[in-house]
Amino acid sequence: MTSVEDSPSPIEDTRRRQLVEVTIDSLAELGYVGTTLAQIAVRAGVSPGLVAHYFGDKDGLLDAAFRSLARRVGDHVRARLRQVSTPRGRIQAVIDANLAPEEFEQRTGTAWLAFWGQVLQVAPLRRVQSVYQRRTLSNLRSSLKKLMPQDDAQRLAAMIAAMIDGVWLRAALSGWREADSESARALLTAFVDGRLERAAPAAAGRAAAPESARARSSGPAAGERFASINPATGEVLGYVTAAGSAQVDAAVRAAQKAQAGWGAMTGTERARVLRRAADILRSRNQELAELETRDTGKPIQETRVVDVASGADCFEYFAGLAQSLSGEHIDLGSQAFGYTRREPLGLVAGIGAWNYPLQIACWKAAPALACGNAMIFKPAELTPFTAEKLQEILLEAGVPSGIFQVVQGFADTGRLLTRHPDIRKVSLTGEVGTGKAVMSDAAQTLKSVTLELGGKSPLIIFGDAKLDNAVSGALLANFYSSGQVCSNGTRVFVHRSIKASFLERLVKRVGAMRIGDPMDPATQVGALVSEQHMHKVLSYIDRGRAEGAIALTGGMRVTSGELAKGYFVAPTVFDNCRDDMAIVREEIFGPVMSVLEFEDEQEVIERANATEFGLAAGVFTNDLTRAHRVIARLQAGTCWINQYNVTPIELPFGGVKLSGLGRENGRAAIEHYTQLKSVYVSMGDIDAPY
Ligand code: NDP
Repeated sequence: MTSVEDSPSPIEDTRRRQLVEVTIDSLAELGYVGTTLAQIAVRAGVSPGLVAHYFGDKDGLLDAAFRSLARRVGDHVRARLRQVSTPRGRIQAVIDANLAPEEFEQRTGTAWLAFWGQVLQVAPLRRVQSVYQRRTLSNLRSSLKKLMPQDDAQRLAAMIAAMIDGVWLRAALSGWREADSESARALLTAFVDGRLERAAPAAAGRAAAPESARARSSGPAAGERFASINPATGEVLGYVTAAGSAQVDAAVRAAQKAQAGWGAMTGTERARVLRRAADILRSRNQELAELETRDTGKPIQETRVVDVASGADCFEYFAGLAQSLSGEHIDLGSQAFGYTRREPLGLVAGIGAWNYPLQIACWKAAPALACGNAMIFKPAELTPFTAEKLQEILLEAGVPSGIFQVVQGFADTGRLLTRHPDIRKVSLTGEVGTGKAVMSDAAQTLKSVTLELGGKSPLIIFGDAKLDNAVSGALLANFYSSGQVCSNGTRVFVHRSIKASFLERLVKRVGAMRIGDPMDPATQVGALVSEQHMHKVLSYIDRGRAEGAIALTGGMRVTSGELAKGYFVAPTVFDNCRDDMAIVREEIFGPVMSVLEFEDEQEVIERANATEFGLAAGVFTNDLTRAHRVIARLQAGTCWINQYNVTPIELPFGGVKLSGLGRENGRAAIEHYTQLKSVYVSMGDIDAPY
């Protein structure tokens, strides 16, 4: 529930850092008791008043110094984690960062020992220590869970954490004679390798869980900050704080209090406010697009025209619908009639994915609020910022406080929403596995769900299609947002008669796409959202090659110049694909297109439908009757004829089969954010048989 970290002025920041460094020096020389405010002020050459101004008292100063030491280790762990993707590599990253040479040095070591002597007595220091301990355990546990059963992972994580601290402590107490950084790391590495070897035979006996169902890192504990990384540069963009049950409960109470009034307003009154929100979104387009680009890695040339604009359109559209919400009158003869009232659900939750953070928040908030509900929204942990901007904008527009609130966090925070008894509905955008988990949690309190999930959509290009349009359609269906679009048409079925000329034009245009700094308006292909996701996409590319597909263009990470710091993958076109290949069956969510050849209509419809997904589909043909005939037979919730990936707010959007339940946008969304009350009105006397 915090925004991009409040940053003190650069001068203040530098001064604070200097004072913290002086404090660590003093602790190393004089210990905890000898370190006083007056003594720090003398060492730093400033007045004691200034030290008190920044830190309050001695406890405040020591707390800041301890946090600084703990944060440094935390930053090193995160930096190392970013460079590896395998579970074993991540375990090693935690060991290496905690036992790095800079932690085996007299000054840092003595300061740590001084603090450790106090943590049981001084509450703020105890909190810092407990965050540090929990974080180490959680990092280790989340990787170990991918290698062994959960209980074993838990135990081994505790052992490794205890060994890290134990080896370090013995080394520090012996004046660094008992072990240095290198030997300490070697000891831990040998221990972990030995334990993993013993665990391997047991693990080999079990079937590997599917990627999406595998235990995800449960993320930071409630109240802990976590960073969001700019995926184009690898730099920390800012921090937010994970919400736990206390924060979620507080948000629920605030929402319930506010919803009564908001739900009782007329549709026209709510519409007026929501229209203002649309205007503010448009007026802040550039600023929001820049923030979205930094957080997601998508090119500014996209976010400037799509993300904010689509969100603003959504508020404008649902403001219009708010004014026309109504029930119906039902004639029941001369002695009675009935009517229905369309009422808000009350409090609903939105949980977003990371590919269109602001747009997803708007697509959920606009219909929810138009119908008189309050919403608590959790953005994906990778892209936390623009939802908070939306909260700010809605308040500015006149939406009462509490009606739209953002809580930050990982899956744990999401679960607090989906399991909360006072939340009546959850709308999720995410993976199929998450959709199943959310639906099962929501079932415990009989919440309704809207699930916008993944896809592996077919795009069918018949021989009579206008070729350049079909190529443009295939590009839009695969490479927008670096391929991170749920509705992408990644299985491109091209009729045999035109495949060669289609590929020739396609590959030429893909080869000319500009990959680069997402903030450069000329850039057409930006970064993927995270290093981990980039490795997933690259591993699919490797699998495609291994299974016999041929990359006609792309097929690798791009690391030229500054791009080496970010997570860029070249747009990739695979030929020689078969329907049974992993790249053709599974959602990659990256810039990877598979081109498949077909012969006749019946065959291509069957192949297009031979998937568990059913989000979207496209057909390119100049034959009017064929277009509608084929679309009618495709198992997909959202379809395009001679176009791809255009999503006007007026048209319902959503999937069938494993791609989801319910619809966003269009009038259809109203059904998912309201409930009907039926009222029978008698106008005659009652004829009772008793
Ligand atoms: P995830 O399913 O990993 O996450 C989606 C959201 O759900 C995140 O906020 C996540 O938290 C949260 N979450 C994860 N587990 C749980 C849980 N058990 N209970 C409650 N909340 C949970 O999806 P991604 O963010 O990786 O997004 C990519 C996926 O989204 C792709 O499959 C894509 O196709 C799909 N998508 C679908 C769209 C559609 O409209 N059909 C549109 C856009 C994307 P956190 O990640 O913060 O831990």
